[in-house]
Amino acid sequence: MARLNLSRLITAAADTIAAHAEELTALDQAIGDGDHGLNMKRGFEAVRSEAEAFSAKPLPEALKAIGTKLVMTVGGASGPLFGTLFMALGKEISSAPDRANLTAAFGKAIEAVAARGKSQVGQKTMLDVLQPVHDALLQGKTPSEIADIADAAAEATVPMKALRGRASFLGDRSIGHMDAGARSTALLVRTVAKTIGESA
Ligand code: ADP
Ligand code: MG
Repeated sequence: MARLNLSRLITAAADTIAAHAEELTALDQAIGDGDHGLNMKRGFEAVRSEAEAFSAKPLPEALKAIGTKLVMTVGGASGPLFGTLFMALGKEISSAPDRANLTAAFGKAIEAVAARGKSQVGQKTMLDVLQPVHDALLQGKTPSEIADIADAAAEATVPMKALRGRASFLGDRSIGHMDAGARSTALLVRTVAKTIGESA
């Protein structure tokens, strides 16, 4: 796997979230409280503002620090969950990960998110994108295939009934809308895949 340029990755992720903040807000307005775009933008702009400091750290420490920053700044239900994802990834990843290490660390990080959210695949959350991405990593898919799998997985939350988070309060009325956290996760996956793919 190509060496990760963390600074470039942070900039790309913050750009993506900023460019899609309104879309994420609209998705969250349909079946939530409409703050997901703003939550994510606030968090990723906070990470962007300290990109240099994060990038100077070894990858595990950088990911843990980014996770902590996201917990402090994103807010809502998704802040602690995205924060947990990055913190757990930092705990498991090596400072120069190969694909096997990245895949294993990502698997552990997903388990940590599921434990924190008391959630599992099929409940119309970010986990419905994270898990297929992990499966794709295990299957040796290319970065661009993984990005497409993430998009399809977010799309696949549309017919699901939400069983976790605010959308679950709507019961059957949550059916027919994409989960906002699944969409933001897919956007981040595409950004990471593209950035890693380009430097490969
Ligand atoms: P809030 O729901 O507090 O307004 P956000 O709007 O920022 O927070 O984030 C909502 C997203 O968080 C959902 O779309 C879903 O993907 C994710 N989410 C919420 N609760 C859980 C949970 N228990 N497990 C996994 N993901 C969750
Ligand atoms: Mg919300």
